[in-house]
Amino acid sequence: MRRVSVFGATGSVGQNTIDLIARRPDDFDVVAISGGANVALLAAQAKLLRADLAVIAQDDLLSDLQDALAGTGIQAAAGRCALLDAAAIPVDWAMSAVVGFAGLEISLAIAKNTRTLALANKESLVCGGALLQKTCADHQTRLLPVDSEHSAIFQCIAGADKLVERVILTASGGPFLKSSLAAMEQATPEQAVAHPNWDMGQRISIDSASMFNKAMEVLETHALFDVTPDQIEVIIHPQSIVHSMVGFTDGAIMAHLGPADMRGPIGFALNWPERADLPVERLDFGALGALSFQHLDPVQFPALGLAEQTMQMGGLAGAAFNAAKEAALDLFLARQIGFLDMARVVRAVLAQTDVASNDILCVEAVIAADAIARVKAGEAAQKGF
Ligand code: NDP
Ligand code: MG
Repeated sequence: MRRVSVFGATGSVGQNTIDLIARRPDDFDVVAISGGANVALLAAQAKLLRADLAVIAQDDLLSDLQDALAGTGIQAAAGRCALLDAAAIPVDWAMSAVVGFAGLEISLAIAKNTRTLALANKESLVCGGALLQKTCADHQTRLLPVDSEHSAIFQCIAGADKLVERVILTASGGPFLKSSLAAMEQATPEQAVAHPNWDMGQRISIDSASMFNKAMEVLETHALFDVTPDQIEVIIHPQSIVHSMVGFTDGAIMAHLGPADMRGPIGFALNWPERADLPVERLDFGALGALSFQHLDPVQFPALGLAEQTMQMGGLAGAAFNAAKEAALDLFLARQIGFLDMARVVRAVLAQTDVASNDILCVEAVIAADAIARVKAGEAAQKGF
C-alpha cells in the first residue's frame, strides 16, 4: 500500500484526487488531508478515506472539526503551522492542491519529505520555481506536474528533453474569446467565472477568462522544463481536447489529447510511472467533428505579454507577477476594479519591481517579494489608471 496525503482536498483538484483514491481503498493508505474552511466536506473525506489526520487551515475551526470527527479515531488539527507540519510527514506521494501563494510553503515541505510531489499549485512554480526544483533535487523528490497542459507536455516529451524545439500550450480562450474590449471592460465576476469547458475553482476560472491562467502556465512551463521563453508558444484551441503539444528538432509534433477532466492528469500523476484505468470519458472523434486553432489577440489578452516581461526580468519577478495578479483578482471580486484593470494592476507592479534582488533560493525572499507586490497592487488600483 502506498502512503499518500492530499493538501487542498476540499477544492476542485482535491475532490477529484479524493475521488480517484477512494475508488482503490486497497492501494492507498491515506495519511493526511487538508481543507481551508470547509469542515463538513473535510470530515466526510477523512471518514471516507479513513485518514490518520485531517487539518483545517483556519485555526478557529478546530473545535468544529474535532466535533465532526468525534469517535472516529481520526486526528484533527487546525492552523497554518499544523498544515505545514502535516505536509512534512513522510509519505510516498502527496498532492499539493491548495490555491494561491499559500501553496508554496506546503509544496516545499512536501518536497523535503515525500518521494513524489504531485503539483497542481502552479503558484509554487511561478513564485519559487528555482527554489522548489532545487529542494526536490536535494531531497531526490520526483516532481510531477498536474496542471493539464504540463502533464500533457511531460507525457509528450517522454524523456526526449534534449530534442525539444518548441512547446505549444493550448488555451480555450475562455468565456470572452468573442467579446469586444468594451464588453470585457464591463465584465462581472459572475460572467468571468463561467468557463466553457473545464469545471474548476473560482479563482482559476476567472484567471482563465483573463488569460492570466495561461500566463501563469507559460511561467510554469519555463520553471518546469528546460526551455527558453522564445521556445514557448500559446495557441487558442476552443475545444480543449488537445491539452498541449511539443515540437521536436526533426519537425515532428507530439500532441496530448483527452477529455477536459482533471482526473486524467491527476490519475496520471497518481499512477506514474504506470498507467491505470481512469474513470474518464473516452473521446469520440466522429462526434467531435473538428478541432480548431487560432492565434490569440495580445490586445484582448494582455496577460501573455506580461508573462513574457516577467520571464525576461527573471529572479523574483514571478513572485511579484503572481502577487499582483492575486491582489488584482481580490479587487475584481470585490467589484473595486474592472475586469481589464487586473492587467493594468499587474503592469504597474512589474514596472516598479526591482529585478536586482534575485535571491530566489530562499523562501523568505519570495515571501517578501510577494508582500511588497501586494501593497504596490493596492496602491496602483487606488491611484486609478
Ligand atoms: P479551489 O479553490 O477549488 O480549492 C482550493 C483548496 O485550497 C481548497 O481545499 C481550499 O479549502 C484550500 N485553501 C484555500 N485557501 C487556503 C489557505 N490559505 N490555506 C490552506 N488551504 C487553503 O482551487 P482549485 O482546486 O481549482 O485549484 C487548486 C490549485 O490547482 C491552484 O493552484 C490552481 O491554479 C491549480 N489548478 C487547478 C486546476 C483545476 O482544474 N481546478 C487545473 C490546474 C491547476 P476550502 O475550500 O476548504 O476553503
Ligand atoms: Mg491548466
